[in-house]
Amino acid sequence: MIRYRVRLASLNSHHFEVSCRVGNPAPEQRFTLPSWTPGSYLLREYAKHVVGIRAESDGGSVGLEKVSKSTWRCHDAGADLTVTAEVFALERSVRGAYLDSRRGYFNGACLFLAPEGRESDPVELILERPEDPRASAWRVATAMHAVEVDADGFGRYSAENFDELIDHPFEIGDFGEVEFQADRVPHSLVIAGRHQTDMDRIGADLQKLCEAHSALFGRPTPFARYLFMGFAVARGHGGLEHRASSSLMFSRDELPVRGQRGVSEKYQRFLSLCSHEYFHTWNVKRIKPAAFSPYRLDRRNYTRMLWVVEGVTSYYQDVMLLRSGLIDASAYLRTLGRGLTRVYQTPGRLRQSLAEASFDAWDRHYKPEVNSPNAIISYYGKGALAALALDLTLRRDSDTTLDTVMRELWQRYGRSDEGMPETAFEELAQEVSGLDLADFFASAVRGTEDLPLAPLLADFGVTLDFRRDKRFGRAASGKGATASPPLELGIRFRQQSAGLDVVAVMADSPAEQAGVSPGDLLIAIDGLKLSGSNLQPRLSRFEAGQTVRVTGFRDEELLEFPVTLAAAALDRCVLRLADKPDADTMVRRRGWLGS
Ligand SMILES: [Zn+2]
Repeated sequence: MIRYRVRLASLNSHHFEVSCRVGNPAPEQRFTLPSWTPGSYLLREYAKHVVGIRAESDGGSVGLEKVSKSTWRCHDAGADLTVTAEVFALERSVRGAYLDSRRGYFNGACLFLAPEGRESDPVELILERPEDPRASAWRVATAMHAVEVDADGFGRYSAENFDELIDHPFEIGDFGEVEFQADRVPHSLVIAGRHQTDMDRIGADLQKLCEAHSALFGRPTPFARYLFMGFAVARGHGGLEHRASSSLMFSRDELPVRGQRGVSEKYQRFLSLCSHEYFHTWNVKRIKPAAFSPYRLDRRNYTRMLWVVEGVTSYYQDVMLLRSGLIDASAYLRTLGRGLTRVYQTPGRLRQSLAEASFDAWDRHYKPEVNSPNAIISYYGKGALAALALDLTLRRDSDTTLDTVMRELWQRYGRSDEGMPETAFEELAQEVSGLDLADFFASAVRGTEDLPLAPLLADFGVTLDFRRDKRFGRAASGKGATASPPLELGIRFRQQSAGLDVVAVMADSPAEQAGVSPGDLLIAIDGLKLSGSNLQPRLSRFEAGQTVRVTGFRDEELLEFPVTLAAAALDRCVLRLADKPDADTMVRRRGWLGS
């Protein structure tokens, strides 16, 4: 057995102390910290947060030497070897480790050294109660098996092996909590961070949602209990799936307060996140590409199927809100329309296929740069559209649906935890439906042309209209290149007091043709000062085809760009239930949308 011990060593300097004790170590026992965490396909090199490390054996210290980016080797160890690392933890994300005077959190990949050759050994983890008086009311939330813990959850836990050890994150602090049963399986939600939330309401809503998921895959659920582990923040949004829990980060504004009725768009965003991560409990935690079976945590694990594990999941995250009755068909179509718009406003969809986007995730999706909108497409967004197109095709042309495919994947690969070959999803879809889908997949997965969604949706009594986007003054949000206001200039920008900070220049846009470049600060149009809020009124004085003088700075040098304005592209997608569809269409629509 490998014995780990975690101490919340210093809240002020954000240090965890983590030790790993190995009996009968190898003569030159090596210890490695993962380079990445499953579910988030970027080499994060957690070893960079190790600020101190030492080794002891049979009561005395022994030599320890770093031999690669995240591996250490011990010399002259006796029968019992303990390596102790001091780890700095201030990453406010679901993929990191965090410790301050308000809470502690860790994703095990950040903290736990794996003793080489002993990764399959059973594991014991002791989580010590923090000594700091500010942490006296803290409790523990985790889905890891508790062997012997106190009333607050500090004490001894166990896991079958290292893979399981790092798949149960811990939340430690003073959090809100609600418990509920879904399909007679105990579930709970904890939310850290300051918030005023109707926890009972969320519990009741999540119960419906969870039951819709297990109705799809069939009972029993592959876990004995489940934990949603949330952190309410001012700004930020993200989640990470685990085998019996998920870590979620969201804005506290998304949470419903007591007395609030209906599902607002903000609350829907929260529910979508929960739905997405819960679906992953089947799709990717158990139905997983062979490339992830087992995960190799020191390198990139290549697969062309991330669109299946993330895109299909993204499609179902909202379908499940509809099926569980939390939103209605119009709200569902509004959400779907926004997803379509994001894809249609990304020129990179015409350059990169879903298979390529999946393969290159490590260095492209996770490392966005100024040209990303023109060069790559999200396997989440376009993957969800491919899943939609496949679902509608199966529903229209066979007596199966995407549900049938997912259930069969679950039976063949998920239950047995056997990795899926790269061709498995496509072969299975053809096998269960009896359809020849070779052309569909060649185009949707390996091609870069737009999916034929408008005629497909029409067969289900839903109209798809393309409109010009007028949300002109919206600036790029967050890290910059993610929001997508399709401007007549064809730029994405951040609003600065001095002007518009150009984040990206869209391919073949008026701005690109005039020589505007990412990083430019645009300060005036036709001699008048520019700001995010006045760009639309300024431009509305001109006609498409007219050339205007745009002025800006590049590297402190004043430049002029003669921009020939063009009408905004027809790339805002609006979906509506069609009036009076014929009887067959109505049957198909009811089967898909329930209305
Ligand atoms: Zn996901």
